[in-house]
Amino acid sequence: MERFFTSEHEEVVFFHEPSVGLKAIVAIHNTQLGPALGGCRMWNYESVDAAIVDALRLSKGMTYKAAVAGLNLGGGKAVIIADPKQQKSEALFRTFGSFVESLNGRYITAEDVGTDVNDMEYIHMETSSVVGVARTHGGSGDPSPWTAKGVLEGVRACVEAKFGKAELKGLSVAVQGAGHVGQELVELFLMNGMRVYVCDIDRSRCEALANRPNVTVVSTEDIYDTDADIFCPSALGAILNEKTLPRLKCKIVAGSANNQLAHPEIGDELFKRKILYAPDYAINAGGLMNVSIELEGYDELRANRMIRNIYYVMKSILQVSAKEGLPEYRCADRVAESRLSDMSRLRGRFLGNGKPGYSTRAIRR
Ligand code: NAD
Repeated sequence: MERFFTSEHEEVVFFHEPSVGLKAIVAIHNTQLGPALGGCRMWNYESVDAAIVDALRLSKGMTYKAAVAGLNLGGGKAVIIADPKQQKSEALFRTFGSFVESLNGRYITAEDVGTDVNDMEYIHMETSSVVGVARTHGGSGDPSPWTAKGVLEGVRACVEAKFGKAELKGLSVAVQGAGHVGQELVELFLMNGMRVYVCDIDRSRCEALANRPNVTVVSTEDIYDTDADIFCPSALGAILNEKTLPRLKCKIVAGSANNQLAHPEIGDELFKRKILYAPDYAINAGGLMNVSIELEGYDELRANRMIRNIYYVMKSILQVSAKEGLPEYRCADRVAESRLSDMSRLRGRFLGNGKPGYSTRAIRR
């Protein structure tokens, strides 16, 4: 195990255990609001550098996500450098779990791209710093359906702001990625009377959708060129960039993927082009909300109530954006940063002498 520090992150840890093929990085961005919670991504990264960059970016996003969602949680993320289709094993995930345990509760892991509830079960055998565990073990299960529900709430707020209507019926949406969240989103959009375009680099994920009414499967390139009203990125990050932006014909970008903007200026450019952008970490917080409830004893009713709140969070971000003429992502950043600095000030004065401390309640009532 190797530790080093970046200027913005509290801690970045490398876990390496060749005997089980484990090469992992845990990035803890900020624990001002509480222990860092964020999923574990398993991906065949081109290089260790690419994995580090991903972990650093994703963990920062988690800090902002928890802050905007009103959760008393910090931001962290884990990445495992391996092919999820070939290299998963009980030994690998249990070893990862024991490494997470060595962080003494500063980081809590969960599912992300490439990992699922079964993997969390193995991790759970070695540490209690894991959520998204199976319902049969007192957990909340796969967070993806909850993330999708939250995205739908956010989409409603965006449609209201952009098109002045409460209904989604008759609108079209282009879903990039038919994975755990993408599949759920396609179902929710269809249930709401929308027309859906969908793609995935793994064509087999779209097979079952191809013959459904109101669904058009397109290639991973064509997804940017459709005439859909809404573009819904639900695969990987950085897909809004100089190359893809000029191709978009949509009026709204709202999806589950983390770190959609290749860099912040793309958010300014979207705003200039009058394409409403739902800040990713604000709209995709449903899964985090759901797993956070596990820390206090899972309650599905409470999860539904919290996730409904994404509609109001998004609405208020969009109202400020319209009133002040500020790109949506800047308004969301402002909400997150102001909560973080308020809490940091409060901690300095009343709540534990400026040390990052944890509330006994992980989540807002
Ligand atoms: P997943 O691995 O189940 O699905 C991702 C899908 O995207 C896969 O089917 C993959 O083949 C596909 N894909 C990858 N690159 C693509 C490309 N260029 N074009 C088209 N398809 C591509 O992951 P998921 O859990 O569904 O998560 C999707 C996104 O949402 C990720 O960015 C993740 O970080 C984010 N997210 C997920 C959750 C959750 O609850 N699972 C919560 C918050 C955010």
